[in-house]
Amino acid sequence: MPATSHPAVTDHLVIVGNGMAGHRLVEALAGKPGRPARITVIGDEPEPAYNRILLSPLLAGEMAREALTLHDSDWYAEQGIELVLGERVTDIDRAARRLTTDAGRTLEYDRLVLATGSQPARPPVPGLELPGVEVFRDLRDAEALIHFTQSQAAKQGGSAVVIGGGLLGLEAAEGLRKRGQGQGGLRVSLLQRDARLMNRQLDLTAARLLENTLRGRGLDIRTDARLERLEAGADGRVGAVRLDDGTRLPADCVVVAIGILPKVGLARTAGLTVERGIVVDAWLTTSDPAIHALGECCEFEGQTFGLVEPIWRQVEVLAAHLAGETVAGYVDTPCATKLKVSGVALYAFGPTEPEAGHEVLTYHDPQQGDYRRLLLKEGRLEGAVLYGDTAAGPWYFEQALAGRDLGPCRGALLLGAADARERLDDDADTATDSPHSPAKEAA
Ligand SMILES: Cc1cc2nc3c(=O)[nH]c(=O)nc-3n(C[C@H](O)[C@H](O)[C@H](O)COP(=O)(O)OP(=O)(O)OC[C@H]3O[C@@H](n4cnc5c(N)ncnc54)[C@H](O)[C@@H]3O)c2cc1C
Repeated sequence: MPATSHPAVTDHLVIVGNGMAGHRLVEALAGKPGRPARITVIGDEPEPAYNRILLSPLLAGEMAREALTLHDSDWYAEQGIELVLGERVTDIDRAARRLTTDAGRTLEYDRLVLATGSQPARPPVPGLELPGVEVFRDLRDAEALIHFTQSQAAKQGGSAVVIGGGLLGLEAAEGLRKRGQGQGGLRVSLLQRDARLMNRQLDLTAARLLENTLRGRGLDIRTDARLERLEAGADGRVGAVRLDDGTRLPADCVVVAIGILPKVGLARTAGLTVERGIVVDAWLTTSDPAIHALGECCEFEGQTFGLVEPIWRQVEVLAAHLAGETVAGYVDTPCATKLKVSGVALYAFGPTEPEAGHEVLTYHDPQQGDYRRLLLKEGRLEGAVLYGDTAAGPWYFEQALAGRDLGPCRGALLLGAADARERLDDDADTATDSPHSPAKEAA
């Protein structure tokens, strides 16, 4: 809709990107009395926002497509929000406060939010341009992978190779394996450059447990695997993956999942300050006071983002700020990691290796496949890796965030949250009952 159809409006907020961050921001603003008078959302994907996190269960065949939709187009209309889909913003004229889309639409804004997310990183190896080389970022990627699992190649004992042993690579590989298992045995290999899976989140023991579980399901996992190139098959599509030790793995489909890069091209061309991401302050304001950025495209205090939890906190701050409310700035706090592979329970936060001054507490029951390793410094929890029984994970995380002294329940810490909490409560009671405690004296 052209800007001229709203001549009286002087507070036009335009949000570029209708992904997880852009959508959540709209949702938060919709309920605020001080919201901008006119809001337009422009997204280059053809459908209204969907839950990107659920692409993994969609690929694994555990969830239907409809379950991913966050709100349909009618909802935006009901909220009085204009929604432009299938158009990419290609240019921002900051002096004129006007943007242009690839469909030739121009739109004037008073305030602008960039929520452009990120794009898959690609390793610098030959053959990446071959047909059959996919990424796993959006609905079309998931659909292409599902389509592959239903192809003749996959059904006739074909092979897929996933490059990257982080969260995304593991979820892609397990999804392909599950989809392909009933169809004549799609062989799925996963290549990890590091010596262990999820090397940013797991210690070696937990990584090995994960590896063994996934191997037991039929995934071909190769660690210390260095990609050299992708080779074309007779049909011109990708046909094989070649490693630097000479190994050749047949591949009818290759999924690249080695990491993400913030989408900053638009911001950079517009002259905003960009490092790895679009640089923002604690109110998610860029180097131009009229332009904000949030989500995976932004960078705050040198940090970029790859999980939704910090993004939800950014949304709260920015929504309040845009609605004219007084709000404390965004503060970056640690995040916990979970893996969405059914039947695999894993929970981790903090450093993967002990650092100076860390005390390491470990519990391992190989029979049950349970493993817990805690890193404490001066009685305070700084890191945890849980595999198998992860029930206590959120409690550990809470204690770490609170910086609580867990000395009193140290002996029960590995037994789980209930036991540890009981000891802490007992300790607190004892302290209260002490003849020297202030409570006792007051009584
Ligand atoms: C398969 C998968 C599983 C994941 N699982 C988890 C999980 O379990 N837990 C977790 O915390 N995180 C998970 N993530 C990460 C999470 O999805 C992202 O952190 C989140 O989507 C980031 O939100 P965003 O809005 O910044 O980016 P996005 O959701 O990517 O949204 C950005 C949107 O902007 C659009 N866009 C970009 N440029 C333009 C332009 N110029 N014009 C118009 N539109 C544009 C993009 O097409 C996209 O629709 C997962 C991601 C994937 C891909």
